[in-house]
Amino acid sequence: METETPQIAAAHQSNKNAMRRRHRAEKRNNLSVSHYLGDLHAHTQEGEKTSPETVAETRSGSNCGEITLRALIFFHAVQMKNKFLAATDHSRDASPEVALNGITEWFKRWLTSDDNSLGENDEPREDLTPEDKKLIAETAATFAKVVACYNDDRLRINLEKIRQQKLELAENGIPLFVLIAGVEANLLPNGEFDSQIVDQGEFTLVIASIHPDLDPNGYAEIMADHNLYTDLVIKGIEQPQTNIIAHIGFGASPEFAEQLDWDKIAQAAIRNDVAIEINVRPLMEYIYREMMDYNKFPANNVSYRKAFEEKLPGLIPLLSSGRIREKLKPYLNQGLRIAINADEHRLPIDTDLSGNVTDLKGHRFWRCLKMTEAQFNVWFENMGIKQEHIINTYHVDQLKAFLAKEMQSFPKLS
Ligand SMILES: [Zn+2]
Ligand SMILES: [Zn+2]
Repeated sequence: METETPQIAAAHQSNKNAMRRRHRAEKRNNLSVSHYLGDLHAHTQEGEKTSPETVAETRSGSNCGEITLRALIFFHAVQMKNKFLAATDHSRDASPEVALNGITEWFKRWLTSDDNSLGENDEPREDLTPEDKKLIAETAATFAKVVACYNDDRLRINLEKIRQQKLELAENGIPLFVLIAGVEANLLPNGEFDSQIVDQGEFTLVIASIHPDLDPNGYAEIMADHNLYTDLVIKGIEQPQTNIIAHIGFGASPEFAEQLDWDKIAQAAIRNDVAIEINVRPLMEYIYREMMDYNKFPANNVSYRKAFEEKLPGLIPLLSSGRIREKLKPYLNQGLRIAINADEHRLPIDTDLSGNVTDLKGHRFWRCLKMTEAQFNVWFENMGIKQEHIINTYHVDQLKAFLAKEMQSFPKLS
């Protein structure tokens, strides 16, 4: 007889609850969080931190990521009950200057500190000569440059890491969870990607992104002219490897995003089997930073709900704009697809490596997601967005067909 541990019993119960929520939602013709099968935009970071030199030698993933791929997978597979996840680290650092300065300072603090505290102990040693300091500054800058200004070598390591994790998943009894080898590739001002192995089709999922901080001068003209920006978005959509065009308007004002030529963008997306991303990172960061702040909103107090309700309608890029919603509306029954991605850099709740929650603040997080779900449903109903428009709700086979650009029509979903 099979013995059921409390964990397995809890997992069954939680699955049942998820199914009930989903059936209820379906009856009302709404989408629920449990339709959402996985995030297609997430950043990781790993490597040894024993010295600036080892950081330079072993750093993988994105410099802005704060989680290991393993922790991210377990969180999504075990906690979120997702079916898939795409690891999409940056093709190159999206803010190289910020990264270079930040890492140089970190290494400098590290090399001048009294102990080996990863540079977190700010007490500098007092016995350093000006020459020592000069040498330390040079060493810090040299290693920081390796970390900040990486190339395709790191992408090859990222791919290998994903391959290893897939093997581990298969061995650890969660073979049904699918890890997708993705990349967030920078779209240069000339419309090309900044990585050869992205062009060569090494990744299953390619997110095309415009990150103006990559080269502030190079993008200056584009960021000041909505026609030039629209043209660059279209070049990104037309890159043969692109599957998702990410956070359109990132780094510009909401008004700038409203002025883009959404007809052209939607038509190009449909023509090229590319999904338009609704990047919910600002929303998620707000939940982590504000809603989970238990000093501001104590644990025994539900005042956070009112605060969240008021803020929520303005927190979602693109969808928060009535003008953009109206612009996209006619294209939904012509085959436009969207991707709703958290662009995750860290986890909302503390978990151990097996994905078990070690911090029970999780309930409030879920409550915020349910409130978000309600807001999305209002917009979706108004725009005619159904499950088949949202690629995160596709079954794995359908998602793979979409990513391979082999999907002829909307999938049948249930
Ligand atoms: Zn990005
Ligand atoms: Zn990203």
